[in-house]
Amino acid sequence: MKDKVHDENRQGEAFAPFAVDATEYSKRFYIESYGCAMNFADSEVVASILNNSGFGATRNVEEADLILVNTCSIREKAEQTVRKRLTEFRRLKRERPGMLVGVLGCMAERLKAKFLEEEKLVDLVVGPDAYRTLPSLVEEAGGGQKAVNVLLSRDETYGDIAPIRLNSNGVSAFVSIMRGCNNMCSFCVVPFTRGRERSRDAGSIIRECEELVNTGYKEVTLLGQNVDSYYWMDEKNDKQVTFADLLEQVALISPDLRIRFSTSHPKDITDDVLFIMKKYENICNYIHLPVQSGSSRILQLMNRTYTREWYKAKVDRIREVIPDCGISSDIIAGFCMETEEDHQETLSIMEYSKFDYGYMYFYSERPGTLAARRYKDDIPEAIKKRRLQEIVEVQNRLSQESYRLDIGKTFKVLIEGNSKKSDQDWMGRNSQNKVVVFPKAGFKYKKGDYVLVKVEQSTQGTLLGKIVEY
Ligand code: SAM
Ligand code: SF4
Repeated sequence: MKDKVHDENRQGEAFAPFAVDATEYSKRFYIESYGCAMNFADSEVVASILNNSGFGATRNVEEADLILVNTCSIREKAEQTVRKRLTEFRRLKRERPGMLVGVLGCMAERLKAKFLEEEKLVDLVVGPDAYRTLPSLVEEAGGGQKAVNVLLSRDETYGDIAPIRLNSNGVSAFVSIMRGCNNMCSFCVVPFTRGRERSRDAGSIIRECEELVNTGYKEVTLLGQNVDSYYWMDEKNDKQVTFADLLEQVALISPDLRIRFSTSHPKDITDDVLFIMKKYENICNYIHLPVQSGSSRILQLMNRTYTREWYKAKVDRIREVIPDCGISSDIIAGFCMETEEDHQETLSIMEYSKFDYGYMYFYSERPGTLAARRYKDDIPEAIKKRRLQEIVEVQNRLSQESYRLDIGKTFKVLIEGNSKKSDQDWMGRNSQNKVVVFPKAGFKYKKGDYVLVKVEQSTQGTLLGKIVEY
């Protein structure tokens, strides 16, 4: 998977700004993150809060005084992965009795104190809106009390906290612009684990992006569950800031700063946003636009608030305004009551939309969601998996076609680092978020530079090319 927002390669990644920490801190924390980019961004806020209370970061779990796992609840499998990891930490804790283990994020919010009863090894349970209280919770837990804070907030955005960039490549960074979600898609646990939607102060977002530019960053991804419904009232200037306004303000910071954003709910992405994208070259031509299903009946059961026709018209509009826009999607196979016809409609909307890539899942019932309360999870697992396989096959073909069509084109690519396979090759992305790999070939470019690359070959997930002098 190529997306930076939910990157399978990064699941469970241990975070620290550097491998060997030679700072003055006498206590160390180790943090592992799972799930979506919001969690990875939150871990950077947590690092900042802990730093300020005397904890240095480590990537070596053996030397940690505090182990934190930032968890995801989106599907059952995500929770199983975390549970397995926690049993591994249990062993470690037996060897180092003073060490504390804490669970953060969506699973902490969903299971609350149950975590302390069920997973006996956990000392701290901290929900996504309670990270400011971590230092006092750690102190409490250190004194032998089990510490829990899972209060959700209506206004917490951590807007004033400068995140500590953990495993950053020094080129691209996540900037959280809003938290929570009000959408109540019937399959989704997020509104319950992350609470009501709230937008972050636009001024603090701009300051964070400026700071990133001043320290050499070249790309920001503005993050939220539903970025297009961003809304902030700038009381000083008596002005409303919409997502389109915010995009423009970030784009104006520097023409050298690339801007991406994720995720867009199809119902909220407006013409204003599309025209701002078109106006500024540094706003990337890429939209992640989760469709979930191609059947209007299923979309209604999912409470997505759009129909098949409406989604198709949105794709048409995007392509009309920004003809070379990359579009990716999320798709769920085997939602409650899904028939073969519904499934065929999903396959056909994928063909229609020509997604450049997709993130595909089979439906996993989540306790407490609207679907879990109202509908029976009635599609047998074997059918869910077969449908998912068919979806994956269609997407693989569409991706292959999309990448093949880029052969012969020249793209402006931001170099992110060495390619995975060879330090003789650079890896970067084009505006459409496609990975481009090309030989360094004696040119004096470095990480963070823009370069023009002509594509000569493609695979399903990578464009291969050569530098055209820039
Ligand atoms: N807010 C984003 C949106 O509306 O598109 C995405 C949120 S969610 C973290 C990412 C994706 O996980 C969703 O788009 C959906 O496809 C998938 N997902 C959410 N709940 C699921 C469930 N219960 N079973 C399977 N997939 C699920
Ligand atoms: Fe979940 Fe829907 Fe909100 Fe996305 S928009 S986080 S899928 S409820």
